[in-house]
Amino acid sequence: MSLWKKLTGRKPQDPQRYQDSGAARTLLLGGAGEDAEIVRASRKFVVVADIRRGPGVTILANLELPLPFRDAAFDEIFSLEFIEHVPHPDLPRLLRECRRVLRKGGAWISGCPDMEVLASWFSLQCDCVEAWQADPKCKSCGGKARISPSRWLKSVFGNQEDYGDSRRADTHKNGLWFARLNQLLEEAGFGGVKRIDAEAYYARGKAESKIVVEAAAR
Ligand SMILES: [Zn+2]
Repeated sequence: MSLWKKLTGRKPQDPQRYQDSGAARTLLLGGAGEDAEIVRASRKFVVVADIRRGPGVTILANLELPLPFRDAAFDEIFSLEFIEHVPHPDLPRLLRECRRVLRKGGAWISGCPDMEVLASWFSLQCDCVEAWQADPKCKSCGGKARISPSRWLKSVFGNQEDYGDSRRADTHKNGLWFARLNQLLEEAGFGGVKRIDAEAYYARGKAESKIVVEAAAR
């Protein structure tokens, strides 16, 4: 299943696209195939950088190393379900690299699991939850649960699926929440850090456990 379908519950051909930010030049960090095409459909000019070769990938790059772009090359950097895969000691450097390749005032937009919500849902796990809805008649949780145990584990630690190479890239190596992202982004040279509506990028229900943050390059 494509990332797009997993995230949104919609089919890629759905007319609903990611909102056009108006950026002239967008860098998509991590994304291939249909997902790259969907971002392309909502943006003017998109460069897709990914560690793996795949349909839609423009540039193969290890995004934990310096980004292979000149200073101020982009108006926008966009990623979904990406930064939680960057090891936590490396994220400050990656954010400084993002700042370097963005023009002043350029936008950084990123969506990922919200650890603050997931932590608050630790005691709200129940097997009765399906499609983000608890069974109102459940004897175990009384319909109060928010997430299934398997979904909670996947949201925190990633799917940990082996895609046939040695990297197990679907493992989460970082945990993000608004205050932490705000601090990391400010330290990397961003300002105006704000939350944006997660439902613009994620399916209803799923959006409640996600955080989408926008920041401007200072
Ligand atoms: Zn229950």
